Amino acid sequence: MRILVTGGAGFIGSAVCRHLVRDTGHAVVNLDKLTYAANLASLDAVAGDPRYAFVRADICDAPAMAEVFRQHDPDAVLHLAAESHVDRSIDGPAAFIETNVVGTGVLLETARRHFEGLDADRRARFRFVHVSTDEVYGSLGPDGLFSETTAYDPSSPYSASKAASDHIAVAWHRTYGLPVVVSNCSNNYGPHHFPEKLIPLMILNALEMKPLPVYGDGSNIRDWLYVDDHARALTTILERGRAGEKYNVGGRNERTNLQVVERICDILDRITPADRPRRELITYVADRPGHDHRYAIDASKLEGELGWKAQESFETGIEKTVVWYLDNRRWWEPIRGGSYRGERLGLKSSA
Ligand code: NAD
Repeated sequence: MRILVTGGAGFIGSAVCRHLVRDTGHAVVNLDKLTYAANLASLDAVAGDPRYAFVRADICDAPAMAEVFRQHDPDAVLHLAAESHVDRSIDGPAAFIETNVVGTGVLLETARRHFEGLDADRRARFRFVHVSTDEVYGSLGPDGLFSETTAYDPSSPYSASKAASDHIAVAWHRTYGLPVVVSNCSNNYGPHHFPEKLIPLMILNALEMKPLPVYGDGSNIRDWLYVDDHARALTTILERGRAGEKYNVGGRNERTNLQVVERICDILDRITPADRPRRELITYVADRPGHDHRYAIDASKLEGELGWKAQESFETGIEKTVVWYLDNRRWWEPIRGGSYRGERLGLKSSA
């Protein structure tokens, strides 16, 4: 298949592009606007491959989208392009509405026109996989898991914009028959993660012996998913997921934020000891407004129906991730020295 991957220069999208080119026979067209979150260096491993192409374009630009579909004639779409950082959505929600809601609508409509022009055989295999988040379900108490039937209850401008785009994507299936599949996954981590997010920010601050700012009391729980496991899940959903269905993707790895940060400190202390234990760098800072307490995913539908299973535990995945940041300074040093230096985002007062 020729797969159009949107947002392929971002964290998860680049892992998807690398996986598709290296581990499958599919061809990839990576469509990305190249916002602050994009990094083409994440694609160095596949950029020279004849099955890989890159197009710089904005999913909100309808004529540009029509031209990309006309030129590249895709067999499927994996839609990951989005504004993705909750804290930035608190400071500036407009870009989230624009890209996540309006842009998804433009892309769906372009895909629908393209789909309707395909022959019956290609129509039968066509899929539009809309990649979303477990944050659309809101916050859990101490027990229970999100399933595909959990009601939507988003808290942040980011999760509300993703929830809106999920509903729009499902409507394009129900109303127009576009073979849409929606995936909702838990927090990803791994190599090539922009260092505004918790895990890479903590790794780099701890490496540089800077304070490790933990929101609130550090008790918020996330269900961590290694990014390459997610890339494999999305490929499975694209190849075998049923049109009109939703699939939850999760790693069965619930950890409090404090546990995550402590683990990073301990790994770094072992690999590259400092003059004092890095846990001493942990500081508790004002909580994120509207901070959901707990997310946890029941992935049994994806596991049972499509046979996917996460290969990494949090312990193996976080070790690989820390080692990757130690070995790949050339990837993150330009970001830390320029576009994002680790400053606090998402306090309502800065809106
Ligand atoms: P990211 O911020 O690292 O990457 C997003 C990419 O989309 C960037 O390369 C950016 O340039 C591109 N983009 C943004 N606006 C665009 C536009 N208007 N047109 C074209 N390209 C545009 O995000 P990520 O963490 O890789 O997330 C990818 C997707 O997965 C998102 O849809 C996100 O909501 C979803 N998701 C992420 C996580 C997570 O933990 N990171 C969890 C669940 C779901």
